[in-house]
Amino acid sequence: GKASRLTACISSQVGCPMRCTFCATGKGGFARNLMPYEIIDQVLHIQEHFGARVSNIVFMGMGEPLLNLPSVMQAQDFLNKTMGIGARHITISTVGVPNAMGKMAQYNTQCTLAISLHAATQAAREAIVPSAKAYPIQAIMDDAEQYFKSTGRRVSFEYTLLEGVNNSLEQAAELAALIRARDMAAHVNLIPWNPVDESEFQRPSRNSVFRFKKILEEKHISVSIRATRGLDAAAACGQLRNMYQKNPLLEDISNVATVA
Ligand code: SF4
Repeated sequence: GKASRLTACISSQVGCPMRCTFCATGKGGFARNLMPYEIIDQVLHIQEHFGARVSNIVFMGMGEPLLNLPSVMQAQDFLNKTMGIGARHITISTVGVPNAMGKMAQYNTQCTLAISLHAATQAAREAIVPSAKAYPIQAIMDDAEQYFKSTGRRVSFEYTLLEGVNNSLEQAAELAALIRARDMAAHVNLIPWNPVDESEFQRPSRNSVFRFKKILEEKHISVSIRATRGLDAAAACGQLRNMYQKNPLLEDISNVATVA
């Protein structure tokens, strides 16, 4: 039930080398990979602090998990098998690392792969995610489709909505077409951007978010709006390093799909 749901947003690295433009962590640069025990410790600390069991885990704190894959997979295996957190309740979020999805598929895990797209065309994506240059969007989609075929697991696509940057109706149609072109089960999480200090981006209006969602639905794409209840913002991968450090906890961020 909802009352017992506790989602921990955890980190895989100290800092992050990917430098996504909207991300506080990316601006701070990269220090090091976390060890498996350091990843697990984050969950234990949250449980201890809140006196409750963590039911869901999202690797959306600091870092790019697929750049620290062996440690992340070792940690998720422990969280699943030893701590009893359902693999399907563990989400590993990536902005895209060449050749890494195939490696992740080889671990035969049931956890969810979430790909941070944030744009539906290569040009638009490069403007938001500098690392996109090294990993073209069609190659990401090839690998996502292959991941689905290898694992049978639906792939999530994360899309942070930035006002005036990637939230037009035309861009929604492009996103729908990008996914519809693929032979795979997919789900889209829309994350309305929450401005923070020094942010160069703006939050999209509620209406524009619903219109974007409706276009995806009309193309029969499974889609949710990710709500960040009780927190100002913390949904996107590494979006708020400072917020994360103050409060590494997300309460019920999952698919709170409000139909317009
Ligand atoms: S959004 Fe994620 S992948 Fe991008 S710089 Fe931030 S922590 Fe790294």
